[in-house]
Amino acid sequence: MPPKKISCARLICPFGANNQAMRNVPVWIDDTPIRKFPKLQRNINVDVLIVGAGVTGITAAYLLKKAGSTVALTERERVASMDTGHTTAHLTYVTDVGLQQLVRNFGKDHAQAAWDAGVAAINEIERIVEEEGIECEFARVPAYVHARVGGSSKKEASALKKEADLAAKFGFDAAYLNSAPYFNLPAVRFANQAKFHPRKYLRSLVVKIPGGGSHVFEKSAASEFDPKKSRVKVNRTWISFDHMLIATNNPLVGLASIAGATLLQTKLSLYTSYALGARVPPGTIPEALFWDTREPYDYLRIDKHRGFDYVVLGGEDHKTGQKKRTQQAYVRLWRRLEKIIPEAQVDHRWSGQIISTPDGLPYIGENAERQFLATGYCGNGITFGTVAAMMASDWTAGRKNPWTKLFAVDRKKIKGAAWNYLRE
Ligand SMILES: Cc1cc2nc3c(=O)[nH]c(=O)nc-3n(C[C@H](O)[C@H](O)[C@H](O)COP(=O)(O)OP(=O)(O)OC[C@H]3O[C@@H](n4cnc5c(N)ncnc54)[C@H](O)[C@@H]3O)c2cc1C
Repeated sequence: MPPKKISCARLICPFGANNQAMRNVPVWIDDTPIRKFPKLQRNINVDVLIVGAGVTGITAAYLLKKAGSTVALTERERVASMDTGHTTAHLTYVTDVGLQQLVRNFGKDHAQAAWDAGVAAINEIERIVEEEGIECEFARVPAYVHARVGGSSKKEASALKKEADLAAKFGFDAAYLNSAPYFNLPAVRFANQAKFHPRKYLRSLVVKIPGGGSHVFEKSAASEFDPKKSRVKVNRTWISFDHMLIATNNPLVGLASIAGATLLQTKLSLYTSYALGARVPPGTIPEALFWDTREPYDYLRIDKHRGFDYVVLGGEDHKTGQKKRTQQAYVRLWRRLEKIIPEAQVDHRWSGQIISTPDGLPYIGENAERQFLATGYCGNGITFGTVAAMMASDWTAGRKNPWTKLFAVDRKKIKGAAWNYLRE
């Protein structure tokens, strides 16, 4: 059956060709330029090479330099401009795959450990923000997972209650509500989640990396990997290293075997997700994070500004390459935004890629000698990217890390494995 035609009536739809005010770029990229970094033009030698300068690569480079290593952060395009520039930056430990499903996939200890990783990431971001005095609008806010607008059923409410009860039993600050603020729908409230401006945060971190034998390069793609000499070709020159982190989101083969890299690719699914940014009158909706129970789900954040509030609504995820009607995805999302916040004036729209795994947890860890890889974050890439940076820092120092086995790139089914997370 052909897809249903969805029209965008010229006079009211914000996406008509006449709307010059509509920006087809993430609001974070539009309002926060980041200084340029040079291209690599000579051979260099560092302790740790990091390929890819999104949240994973920048955080890892920052932590490693702080810990005393020399680093080279090499980026094919511009820093914090790919998925990290296209994010919506909800900072939460609540994963796309629900807690009950994680317990079924991995067992209780491991499910709890996965959410604890998110807690650790939010705390780490908060620590860095405070320590460095970064003005990036970091704020602790509650998050609400609520029943679908116009589709609430008893079954949905009961599933939400079970999720809330299990999370509370595991020690997370979660509670079932008959009526979420603003939406007046059954929901789970997770206290103490957070949000920030991703580029204001990362532009402050990335400038701390160059100097003392460390570097940041832009327009400098890693194009050839030489495992024998532990070096990577960039712009016809070489970067030699002791350790390397592949932080390209969609993973490169790097030093791994082609067979291993191909197997990993078969486990990753690429989705495109869409977002709209809109101004709303101050105080229209509480400053918080909201997600619904649709499949794929909608996700909403609200930020307070002087004289107006700004909302970002995301959703409409589909497998990358399977749908060509991008315009229709934006129109559907806009219609739902209009329904929940009729006052919303959309002025930005953008899309980006989400990389998912079959069991809902990321792949983070060593996948070849001297090589550490991080990918498959699903919708939690800012928090899992931060966790990956913390883990990479432990890996180069030879320190134990509590999530090594759970997030291992070559994990099989680890449910019931002889591993005590609490002891680890
Ligand atoms: C619309 C949308 C909404 C989202 N919302 C959220 C959210 O609310 N919360 C959340 O936690 N996550 C969210 N995510 C997911 C999250 O944004 C991403 O998972 C995360 O930003 C990925 O970070 P990264 O550093 O791994 O990758 P990226 O930011 O993609 O960085 C990888 C970098 O590697 C570079 N690169 C690639 N190949 C090479 C090469 N050969 N040499 C050098 N450099 C190379 C790329 O140019 C890129 O800059 C969202 C994603 C999207 C698209």
